[in-house]
Amino acid sequence: MEKQNKIALVTGGSRGLGKNAAIKIAKKGIDVIVTYQSKKEEAEKTVEEIKQLGVNAAALQLDVSDSSTFDHFITEVKTTLKSTFQADQLDFLVNNAGIGIHASFAETTEEQFDSLVNIHFKGPFFLTQKALSIINNGGAIINISSGLARFSLPGYAAYGAMKGAMETLTKYQAKELGAKGIRVNIIAPGAIETDFGGGVVRDNEQMNAGIASQTALGRVGLPDDIGGVVAFLCTEEARWINAQRIEISGGMFL
Ligand code: NAP
Repeated sequence: MEKQNKIALVTGGSRGLGKNAAIKIAKKGIDVIVTYQSKKEEAEKTVEEIKQLGVNAAALQLDVSDSSTFDHFITEVKTTLKSTFQADQLDFLVNNAGIGIHASFAETTEEQFDSLVNIHFKGPFFLTQKALSIINNGGAIINISSGLARFSLPGYAAYGAMKGAMETLTKYQAKELGAKGIRVNIIAPGAIETDFGGGVVRDNEQMNAGIASQTALGRVGLPDDIGGVVAFLCTEEARWINAQRIEISGGMFL
């Protein structure tokens, strides 16, 4: 019988860091389910790129801000696992999907706060809880924080606080899921050139140069700087890394 590939679920795999991570994971011989919120075509492109690497892939729609849809989503994942991967369970969950909202502490509205808490904290909390029934023992969960949880930049109070909450949650998850051999780690990218926050790190020259000048390696990050670390955390070589915050920022604001 053919050996079954391991399977990863990457939220927000249509663009940016999630897409890069999904492709790097696929390069390790791991099958991948990516999710998208609205950009179905982009997600399908990711699926095609992954299939060209010789592993299996599928795309599913998911809004991480709406936990009332998660039971239905998990049912869809189960159906897809059966039909596309001939499997009942998956091995890795990457909680990547997210947005940036720039607002000073003084001006953050309750609406902005609720949106950030739903997408960056409540969503990954309950999605992971509901996914536990389909994550194999010995698997791994990778959460995504930000450099902004370690240092503070004006305009990211709510966002940075949600990422800080995810860092604390990661330790609790690692403690409670260790009995199943499930490792839980969190990566914290620095500023990376993606569409995030309207693409400001990539498109605003002044911002880009300012961050580069505060980064030991002298430039801002690229998606290619990040995905490989996520993929590494899905390998046997990373089997003793657990409950860690791994910053991937080129040495930002040291
Ligand atoms: P991005 O390029 O804007 O991509 C965002 C991804 O998340 C897309 O796949 C998008 O789907 C999906 N998404 C957005 N809102 C969603 C929702 N409500 N439900 C489900 N999916 C949703 O952003 P990125 O830079 O790759 O960011 C990915 C993660 O890295 C986020 O958690 C972010 O906080 C974190 N991060 C980013 C940076 C940075 O500088 N870029 C730094 C530190 C941490 P659609 O394509 O369908 O819209």
